[in-house]
Amino acid sequence: MSTGPKQSHDNGLHPELLPPDDPDAIYHNGHRLDHAEGVSRPMRSKPEPQPRGARVHGNRPIDQAEAAGRFIAAPEHEKMHDERLWDLRQKRDREMHGIEEWEELRSLASAIKEHTLTHLDQYLEQFEANARANGIHVHWARDAAEHNRIVHGILRDHGAKSLIKSKSMLTEECGFRPYMASVGIEVVETDLGERIQQLDNEDPSHVVVPAVHKLRTDVAQVFARTIGADPNNSDVHYLAEAQREANRPLILAADAGMTGANFVVAETGTFVVCTNEGNADLSANVPKLHIASIGIEKIIPRLEHLAVFVRLLSRSALGSPMTQYTSHFRGPRQGGEMHVVLTDNGRSARLGLAEFWTSLKCIRCGACMNTCPVYRRSGGLSYGATYSGPIGLIIDPTFNAHKYSNLPFASSLNGSCTNVCPVKINIHEQIYAWRRELVKRHEVPFVKKAAMKAAGELLSRPAAYRAAIAAADFALAHLPRFVAYNGLNAWGRHRENPHPPKQTFHSWHHANRGGKQ
Ligand code: SF4
Repeated sequence: MSTGPKQSHDNGLHPELLPPDDPDAIYHNGHRLDHAEGVSRPMRSKPEPQPRGARVHGNRPIDQAEAAGRFIAAPEHEKMHDERLWDLRQKRDREMHGIEEWEELRSLASAIKEHTLTHLDQYLEQFEANARANGIHVHWARDAAEHNRIVHGILRDHGAKSLIKSKSMLTEECGFRPYMASVGIEVVETDLGERIQQLDNEDPSHVVVPAVHKLRTDVAQVFARTIGADPNNSDVHYLAEAQREANRPLILAADAGMTGANFVVAETGTFVVCTNEGNADLSANVPKLHIASIGIEKIIPRLEHLAVFVRLLSRSALGSPMTQYTSHFRGPRQGGEMHVVLTDNGRSARLGLAEFWTSLKCIRCGACMNTCPVYRRSGGLSYGATYSGPIGLIIDPTFNAHKYSNLPFASSLNGSCTNVCPVKINIHEQIYAWRRELVKRHEVPFVKKAAMKAAGELLSRPAAYRAAIAAADFALAHLPRFVAYNGLNAWGRHRENPHPPKQTFHSWHHANRGGKQ
């Protein structure tokens, strides 16, 4: 792999549009990695169908492994997804190595979040007082239902029938779009990836790049179906232009705009939204009514702390030094109105969970997803939850431990997520802690529980263990294949056992070392 020397992009083009001899390009096995498929070479004539996400049946536990199996069975999608995200991870590493004090920044960010979360009430009240002084209306929502009702109330009071909205994971948590549809308000996403997902009736599959699991050909199909674009043209420039043409009139005619927030500053009563498309600025500035939907954990005490997070966020997320837009919202514009809905939705309960409260430090950069081998190969929609990847494994069960009881097992516990997390959340340790917790709560499948109990018994009796190993070796060598590889053996569905040795290590040791330890 070569990364080439660092150079400034004098021609002003986005890196993906640079020529093939771009010195900044990353190569893997002789192929250039382009995370946004910026190169518009034609793909094969018959596109591979897009694998869909997890099947959700009410409150039944999500079968992530089943959905991941379908994603892996679509090799073009799996390969593209894996390479695209690994490309982001490599770009993140390059940026990180360019900052000598990276580890100090991570520690500082973690400490600021820890301090804020342990004084949350104080900083939230400070923010509320300062925001009101700035002319912002501040609302408090206990849960998703209250959040949706409050926003609906504001829109109703203004006679608003259409809302443009930038990407916000909190509104995904709240089931905001379906709720708005049920009360007759049209919501239009302004982030390109999120709009693709909205038009395709899918949730975002990644917190930063919501349509990262789709090929260009998938997007061409979605746009052909929904906005009348050419189904055979999957050129990225054509697709982006088609969407802009379709979306811009809706944006200009909208009655209200909505954003989330990346950071909320207590001392100034202001909030900050980071995007790369400037779409949050359209949502906030085109209509006169701006509503910001904000999770209470987004608060930081002082403006000077923002610099720490802004330096970490985009580098960790996309491997770029900064988001293209870092917009500060200080109050309503002249003749307009600004509302902030501070939403709990399970956060204060999570704050009380001794082993999991530090997950509230998360700044939603997605770095843990980009590095996770399970996520990269199974796609975010296989998790069947608002949050996917490593951070999802520890947040989702706090919403519903039964429905998401399988998720903490979708990890190899390799710890890479913890290593890249810019706010130093001990992600893999929390995943492991969730496994213990789910066993305690009897939320693991019967077969797994029985197998673990049997293994525990066996491992605590050396003589029985040795006899079982000898029996297993004999069975593998002599019994028909279906005895070892059947429906009960999920592990064996995609793997082969090694050939059984002629002699166990114990018997070899006994024979050659006289049984001495
Ligand atoms: S857990 Fe850490 S790495 Fe993962 S999204 Fe949150 S801040 Fe980023």
